[in-house]
Amino acid sequence: MAQSSRSGSGSAGGLIRRPNIIGGAEVTGGSWTPNINPSDTSDVIGEYAHASAADAGAAVAAAHEAFPRWAFATPQERADVLDRAGDEVLRRADELGDLLAREEGKTLAEGRGEVARAGQILKFHGGQALRNHGEVVDSIRPGLEVTITREPLGVVSIITPWNFPIAIPAWKIAPALAYGNTVVFKPAELVPGCAWELVDILGRAGLPDGVLNLVMGSGREVGPVLTGSTQVDGVSFTGSVLTGEHILATAAPQRTRVQLEMGGKNPLVVLDDADLDIAVDVALQGAFGSTGQRCTASSRLVVTRGIHDRFVAALAERMRAWQVGDARASGTDMGPVVDATQLAQDERYLAIARDEGGQVLGGERFERQTSGHYLSPALVVGTDNTMTVNREEVFGPVASVVEVADYDEALAVANDTEFGLSSGIVTTSLAAASHFRRHSGAGMVMVNVPTAGVDYHVPFGGRRASSYGPREQGTYAREFYTVVKTTYLKA
Ligand code: ADP
Repeated sequence: MAQSSRSGSGSAGGLIRRPNIIGGAEVTGGSWTPNINPSDTSDVIGEYAHASAADAGAAVAAAHEAFPRWAFATPQERADVLDRAGDEVLRRADELGDLLAREEGKTLAEGRGEVARAGQILKFHGGQALRNHGEVVDSIRPGLEVTITREPLGVVSIITPWNFPIAIPAWKIAPALAYGNTVVFKPAELVPGCAWELVDILGRAGLPDGVLNLVMGSGREVGPVLTGSTQVDGVSFTGSVLTGEHILATAAPQRTRVQLEMGGKNPLVVLDDADLDIAVDVALQGAFGSTGQRCTASSRLVVTRGIHDRFVAALAERMRAWQVGDARASGTDMGPVVDATQLAQDERYLAIARDEGGQVLGGERFERQTSGHYLSPALVVGTDNTMTVNREEVFGPVASVVEVADYDEALAVANDTEFGLSSGIVTTSLAAASHFRRHSGAGMVMVNVPTAGVDYHVPFGGRRASSYGPREQGTYAREFYTVVKTTYLKA
């Protein structure tokens, strides 16, 4: 492991090279991983250091050493760092949005929007650092005063997926730092670019060395250190159900606090009384925005009989008109699938859907001038809720339609899933909307808006196989990143 003090970046033959950042030092390790543009696989964005298990151990040790200083930093110091970092992220939204589109395949508009969101999140949690209020309670015993205060959890491992390369890291790292925790951050292998920039920005905004450490590399290699170390007090993870369950099992013996955000199979109910244009728009955005690669994507469209045929025809027409292409080209509505593995998974689920009796509209793989992972949006019609495509998360531009008789059946189908992240309904009936809000089994319910697309100042999370542990985001983020202390004081 080669170390040098921070210089910001390096290059090899004109190619950008980015190191791991451990204890404030650049650590390059032995090998480099290329960051490939999914819109054009001949475009290498840069090379990123590949962390080893030893690097991960060093990062945990650095976070452990930095903890006492940061835990007792003033709220003003923490607020200032987050606010300054938020300002820089917002100022660089065009440039970082372009990087995001280039490494992940979201459209430029989606990329810029996500970067701006990350900036807002950093600034919000800067404010929260100043609002970590406790409580003072009268004791049941005379002459005693009871206070309830919040202290940082400790060293937190933050493990993130590729589908939101800057927003998810920001919504975990910002509250962790705001409440005085130190962090080891492992981004997904496919999107180290935005992760590196975010850590660099926070470092230059004034974080002391070791408070935020970056290890880029394979989850299988560095994951066990980040989740199994006795020096780690919490693990916040977003990714697949299988990995989440594995992390929980690895962390539990050390009694490490765990927060998991995993999959979804989110239903969007469309009732006969819906405004057809709104229904189609909500379904299109919810199912195919960000190439359908969102845990909150509307992947099951549950549609009542009276509107079913009109809805399917109108949605299929809108899908055909969508421009699928290079994420950074003007006029692109939907970028490519993130990589060849994910594309193969999408196609495998489409093949299974056909085998099980579904009819697939769209879902064609095609070439552009550049070699990228292009798939047109796919709608599987004629499905029932027992089919594989309605049980398992595809994580691509694939939605299926389940036709139902009425609202009661729609609600039953919507709730018939092992997941429970978000759900939606499109209706003009206040009674149906209100009933659905109360009876949906999801953690987030959307009425006449897409199942994907959330605010940052309110809780985010789901139920059952979708989530584990306290909610993320907004003021609720404090539950995970702090521990409570009750003090009895006799003057
Ligand atoms: P995705 O389908 O989004 O890649 P994963 O659950 O495989 O979902 O990955 C999400 C994150 O978890 C990534 O950063 C990945 O490197 C990491 N990861 C994968 N395996 C492990 C593991 N065994 N322990 C810890 N993190 C892991």
